[in-house]
Amino acid sequence: MLQKLLADLQPYPAKLAAVSKTRPIEDIQALYAQGQRIFAENKVQELVPKYEALPKDIQWHFIGHLQSNKVKYIAPFVHMIESVDRLELLVEIEKQAAKYQRTIPCLLEFHIASEDSKYGLTLEHALDLLRTPTFAALRHVRIAGVMGMATFTSDEAQIRQEFHQLKHIFRTLKETFFQEDAGFCECSMGMSSDYQIALEEGSTIVRIGTLLFGSRS
Ligand SMILES: *Cc1c(COP(=O)(O)O)cnc(C)c1O
Repeated sequence: MLQKLLADLQPYPAKLAAVSKTRPIEDIQALYAQGQRIFAENKVQELVPKYEALPKDIQWHFIGHLQSNKVKYIAPFVHMIESVDRLELLVEIEKQAAKYQRTIPCLLEFHIASEDSKYGLTLEHALDLLRTPTFAALRHVRIAGVMGMATFTSDEAQIRQEFHQLKHIFRTLKETFFQEDAGFCECSMGMSSDYQIALEEGSTIVRIGTLLFGSRS
């Protein structure tokens, strides 16, 4: 499955994050042995032991709701935090990253789905956040782009419209705040069921679990 996915990604400038939440170490090792290096987890208590047990050249992405008091456990090693949805969290990431003399790349997570259970900013909230002096003072956080999840639906037109909206948000932020910043370049969108649409709409990171590892119990 990895080879097929990589072949699908090949025409696009997109990376694959293998979503390994709930999967045992051995499943991750098997994919690692095939060359996969980016893995994504959504729980701190699951990520930390996996980081400790697995090869250190894995790039771990955090993709779940992150409580501020847990940032300290992943700050020493996390490669990217994709799910930043509030200024308070950025301030805590700044504090912990500074302790380890690191700069942690972060994505701003946007609410693009019609379900209201999902986390994420609106464009208006993000504009407000990026204009605050608190944000301007951050030195150990680097905003590398945006992340979002489409509605869980079989309506392809709706999914496409939501990804289109996220790409529009990306372009707006790029023009308004990050024009000179080549590091603001990521649009993380697309999962097992909708990654093909996400690629067509300009995804740069697809986050795929089920297709690689089978369905989660
Ligand atoms: C679980 C998860 C994925 C992967 O979902 P699959 O349908 O298994 O590919 C992607 N993104 C986030 C934020 C997730 O929590």
